[in-house]
Amino acid sequence: MLVSAKEMLTKAKAEKYAVGQFNINNLEWTKAILQTAQELNSPVILGVSEGAGKYMCGYTTIVGMVNGMINELGITVPVALHLDHGSYEGAKKCIEAGFSSVMFDGSHYPIEENISKTKELVSICNEKGLSLEAEVGSIGGEEDGVIGGGEVADPEECKMIADLGVTMLAAGIGNIHGKYPENWAGLSFETLDAIQQLTGDMPLVLHGGTGIPADMIKKAISLGVSKINVNTECQLAFAEATRKYIEDGKDLVGKGFDPRKLLADGCAAIKATVKEKMELFGSVNKA
Ligand SMILES: [Zn+2]
Repeated sequence: MLVSAKEMLTKAKAEKYAVGQFNINNLEWTKAILQTAQELNSPVILGVSEGAGKYMCGYTTIVGMVNGMINELGITVPVALHLDHGSYEGAKKCIEAGFSSVMFDGSHYPIEENISKTKELVSICNEKGLSLEAEVGSIGGEEDGVIGGGEVADPEECKMIADLGVTMLAAGIGNIHGKYPENWAGLSFETLDAIQQLTGDMPLVLHGGTGIPADMIKKAISLGVSKINVNTECQLAFAEATRKYIEDGKDLVGKGFDPRKLLADGCAAIKATVKEKMELFGSVNKA
């Protein structure tokens, strides 16, 4: 059964580790992530962007697939199904479809509008026992066509949004979606510290987890980050392993063209990436 992310993140914040959000793209992706979480006895959050939602034939299809897999694979660790960077309309659709968690990314609205829309979603989510993530200060890079400038959030605005009763808060602290450029300035720990001082127990979310050095991840966790989003890194690992399979000519040997064989190395690469992240984030055996 899907659960809200509230309990797992409250525990993570108190015990100073982070739960990984791994974005899904298809059945193989979902299976690889769920199996790894179960093997490592770790809580997990499956992230779905609106673009990936369309690709997978809509939110109800995804809810059906994930619930089916939890049953058929005997998954007993806590699993949250979460809308990533949702629009106001997208968030409502996911709530209706049976997601257990949503993000409303109102960072591109003026703060007053971000607040009023977040407020409405807080009351819907509270009523249904779902978790809600809000964002302040847009996060750099591109995610599904939403391009952010890599802002650093205003800690006072973070407090205003946190006080509305959201479950977890994403704040721009110099992080970027996708691959980091060579001249990246790194995370602003000063900002993160200021945000945590003002928001107290609120679990903070770090987007753009791909390519942030391990020591920065650990420092961010020590300053209150309890959810870290990983997307690009699984994609790169999957693509590299799949390319190698083809380049090695394995698809031309016997029934190597069978999709179950063709995609197997890529799936193993996703599993290895998820394992590495769960170990780094400290969520192993925290289910
Ligand atoms: Zn993000």
